[in-house]
Amino acid sequence: MAGLFTRIRKQGDPPENGEATPPPVAPIAASDLARRVELLDSLEETGVGWFWASDAEGRMIYLSPAALEPFAMRSDEFAGRTITQVFEEERREEGTSQGGRPLKFLLAARNSFGATPVRVKLGRGDAWWEIAGKPRFGKDGSFHGYRGTARDITGTHEERRKQERASQYDSLTGLANRYRMSRQLEQMLKAFAHAKRSCALMMLDLDRFKQVNDTLGHPAGDELLKQVAARIRGVFGDRVEIGRLGGDEFQAILPDLDDRGQLGDIAQELIQMASQPYSINGSRAVIGVSIGIAVAPYDGIAPEELTKAADLALYAAKGGGRGQHRFYSRELRDQASFRHQIEQDLRDALHGEQLRMHYQPIVDAGTHEVACMEALMRWEHPDRGMISPADFIPVAEEVGLIRQMGTWALNEVCRAVTTWPGTVKAAVNVSAVQFAADDFVDVVRGALKRSGVDPARIELEITESVFMGDVERSARVFAALKKLGVRLSLDDFGTGYSSLSYLRDAPFDKIKIDQSFVRGCAGKDSNNLAIVAAVVSLAGALRMETVAEGVETKDELEAVTKQGATHLQGILFSRAVPSEEALRRFEAGELHYAPRGPEKYRAERRTEFRRIGLIHGDHRYNVFLRNLSKTGAKIEGLLGVEVGTEVVLDLGGGQLAVAVVRRSEGSSQGVEFETPLISDGAEGLCTRHRVSPYQIELAGKPLQALGDDPYAALMSMQNRTPKAFMEVQLG
Ligand code: C2E
Ligand code: CA
Ligand code: CA
Repeated sequence: MAGLFTRIRKQGDPPENGEATPPPVAPIAASDLARRVELLDSLEETGVGWFWASDAEGRMIYLSPAALEPFAMRSDEFAGRTITQVFEEERREEGTSQGGRPLKFLLAARNSFGATPVRVKLGRGDAWWEIAGKPRFGKDGSFHGYRGTARDITGTHEERRKQERASQYDSLTGLANRYRMSRQLEQMLKAFAHAKRSCALMMLDLDRFKQVNDTLGHPAGDELLKQVAARIRGVFGDRVEIGRLGGDEFQAILPDLDDRGQLGDIAQELIQMASQPYSINGSRAVIGVSIGIAVAPYDGIAPEELTKAADLALYAAKGGGRGQHRFYSRELRDQASFRHQIEQDLRDALHGEQLRMHYQPIVDAGTHEVACMEALMRWEHPDRGMISPADFIPVAEEVGLIRQMGTWALNEVCRAVTTWPGTVKAAVNVSAVQFAADDFVDVVRGALKRSGVDPARIELEITESVFMGDVERSARVFAALKKLGVRLSLDDFGTGYSSLSYLRDAPFDKIKIDQSFVRGCAGKDSNNLAIVAAVVSLAGALRMETVAEGVETKDELEAVTKQGATHLQGILFSRAVPSEEALRRFEAGELHYAPRGPEKYRAERRTEFRRIGLIHGDHRYNVFLRNLSKTGAKIEGLLGVEVGTEVVLDLGGGQLAVAVVRRSEGSSQGVEFETPLISDGAEGLCTRHRVSPYQIELAGKPLQALGDDPYAALMSMQNRTPKAFMEVQLG
């Protein structure tokens, strides 16, 4: 086959003398054009390397014919295409450090370039080559096009790409993996801070995934994750980088989105989509998703800062009852540090005798005589005062202190009971973590023995969450406890994953109907009443006692009594009192508790009473927020505000809401927002937009996430004009 070089020789050189064969062993001199051309021709034919050439306009004028063979394309079909049409450079990912400028630019600048991987798409073929090229210039400096080499790297390249993919993508779902997400986030945040763009980070965590995984098996869990991933992708489309960080945790990076209204809508759509039932190998599964959202630069500038913010928001969303979204706010951070503080101090509480037991009576529904005292733990913190068990028990469970605390509680209560009248039992709350511990039965046995109390006077209150664990083990523990002679009581019934089969299979002596059902059950056509009625009759059929928890009013008392609850508990009879107070009463022989309290339950009218800022003119006034709705607010604390005045409410955290005064009466005003507020995912409201850290940066401050008072950082009030309103003190 005659190649380019043979042709060049034929055109450019004087015809050779056919007879004069050169000596075969003589070395090839640089000037020996003919033999050098021959060498190149044979190289070309081996396929180890090919040659290509272009003209001054960038059109291909040559490509080794052997190179064209796999594409089933003839040279004449190929001629006339431009270099960039034939060689398509691999799309580089932002920031991948292959270095150098794109091929396009090098060609346009007529620079030489070294080994560059390109994709070659010709005819029906598709291959990866590595090409190099050098520009050629005439004596006058005019450009003559490129001359270059090429070789096929399809095999190794594909392999490399596959490996790269594997290292950056999750093989199960095809989404980006944790490594890729953190790299993307880092690059994006860096670039965006420069360009003053915003970027939202969403953390998603599936609710109840573990149960599906445990009950249907791991392959089913994997299948579920795949389906979830597909649904998430369906909501976001391609514009958003989505990743699975591991387990059932997903993440999405949303560029140029800082409108919390839109973000909330997206989150709600995700929650909706994810909570539709899944069909997995013929089984049906239902899960949910919780979402935490943080937005750069408002909530964080650096990747770690933003990620931590989104994590905190996710944590709050989970804690808020799952199936919710939550935006990061500084209060969340404060709560987190409060928790951290509790965590730190909890050890001291155990050893420094800061824990106490208070006792609340559970009375017989017929006689109102005390039948049992529920032990409720109290923590007298040396600096913070009383801390609620609702705050510290979950922390104790998480940091592993609950077992020690539970052991203390059991011993303390068993000891106390021995000082009470024989008819009075005691109930001890048992955390699911405690219940799951291997030595739980031994701990109970130990406490009984040490105190010498009659086991039948001790009731263990257990919540439905214990059924989420190992069912067979639970059954064994229940049996062992019954053998010890203690009583078992199912606490907070109706709030967990209630299943009536628990009741049938587990040996409970008592069901405690959660106070959320008792609350307001006296109202007309109350659903709660129907639930109370159903639980009472079920328990009756199973020969269990029923306690109505949290009875606060006389009408609730009447309603639950009428439904046949056997026992009652609530502040209508007594709050939890210190053990000495309980003992004093018993020693005086007072076992009867008379109901004392309001006739009717009144839904508390939640009036907000929080200090906020009102900005008008050059001034910022302190006012009280009395009431807040999506469209407006009621404020108090200013005199002389006329209807129609435009003001800005500073709701904190950089949330500024433009509003117009619609009503004004003395020191209180009703204002209407220009743009309605949106839900913060929980019960609260927030503004769509906030003061941007970029704005604060423009005002000469360093770029950082929103601080305690973003507005103050933005404005240095100069007070040029006199105040328009008078601030009044509220009593
Ligand atoms: P719980 O077991 O459901 O306890 C009942 C809670 O309702 C107690 O809150 C009690 O003070 C409160 N309560 C009683 N009557 C009324 C009423 O009429 N109205 C209202 N609104 N509330 C009423 P407390 O003492 O704050 O305890 C909260 C939770 O902390 C308990 O809920 C229990 O789950 C946990 N806890 C308390 N002590 C212990 C303990 O020693 N060990 C464990 N593991 N958990 C405990
Ligand atoms: Ca309880
Ligand atoms: Ca309860």
